[in-house]
Amino acid sequence: MFETTVAGSLPKPSWLAEPNKLWPQWRLQGAELDAAKADATLLAIKEQEDAGIDIVSDGEQSRQHFVHGFLEFVDGIDFAHKVEMGIRADRYKAMVPQVVGDLKLKGRVHGNEAKLARAHTKKKLKFTMPGPMTIVDTIADRHYGDKVKMAMAFASLLNQEARALEADGVDTIQFDEPAFNVYMNDVKEWGIEALHRAIDGLKCTTAVHICYGYGIKANNDWKTTLGGEWRQYEETFPALAKSKIKQVSLEAQNARVPIHLIKLLDGKDILIGAIDVASDEIETPEKVAAVIGEATKYAAKEKIFGCTNCGMAPMRRDIAYAKLAALAKGAELARKKFG
Ligand code: ZN
Repeated sequence: MFETTVAGSLPKPSWLAEPNKLWPQWRLQGAELDAAKADATLLAIKEQEDAGIDIVSDGEQSRQHFVHGFLEFVDGIDFAHKVEMGIRADRYKAMVPQVVGDLKLKGRVHGNEAKLARAHTKKKLKFTMPGPMTIVDTIADRHYGDKVKMAMAFASLLNQEARALEADGVDTIQFDEPAFNVYMNDVKEWGIEALHRAIDGLKCTTAVHICYGYGIKANNDWKTTLGGEWRQYEETFPALAKSKIKQVSLEAQNARVPIHLIKLLDGKDILIGAIDVASDEIETPEKVAAVIGEATKYAAKEKIFGCTNCGMAPMRRDIAYAKLAALAKGAELARKKFG
């Protein structure tokens, strides 16, 4: 009960990439960079284990950014001529690559780090990839001329890599869909269908992560415009409850999300965000346990997992791992109080 996990990314060591940035530059190149990524992956696993996390990830140490870390391995994308695009309904601008031809995987995307991680931990292992809707919201289209068609093409590639990750021994495959909190009608119209294509044929645990974004200024500013109660989940959870996805990861700690909305996810595992990634203040175990306890009022205890609100990539490393230790201690406390 109340097993703990992470939404996905963790900070990279400063010898691997620029710290505290969402789009950091690598510090090394070629074979040296590959070796450093592998070292950082092992460290991330060790630090999660030492913090007491039950289901660990590779910390996304091998990717520069959660979306473009996948796109780099896709043929049909022009990275040399990036264009400026408004992202998440124009919440912020980013320089993005362009789709210029039929999409195809160049080979394995996360094979190296998945095999490495699997060989070095006995814990359950989770891998994350960007969801199809979030990908098409983070890239310019000069080829398909139709967002849904392009999303389905990406979903097929995600499925190809997901099946390979499952064969590598990965226990949970999660798709990150922050865009699900922005385009709620699209979620119902084609977003879940795209996820179904991405998980097609998988036997491992499948998850979708839906949040209000990394703890960066553009997101924090956006949250101030969302009013006293954030009810985006209310529109998508009923459709997700009917979907084939097993787990839903959501934001809760310090969020204005009414926790009772998780009732709408009947039957799903709930990865409740008990750690705020937009604040450097380290949660007390009591604060973590309080969110978990609140969730137990609206969902079966055995369906609840302790998680972070979102990825921790841009955070300070010492703070991120202190927060993970608080998450594990808070879940332990919750087992005593509510178990
Ligand atoms: Zn997130």
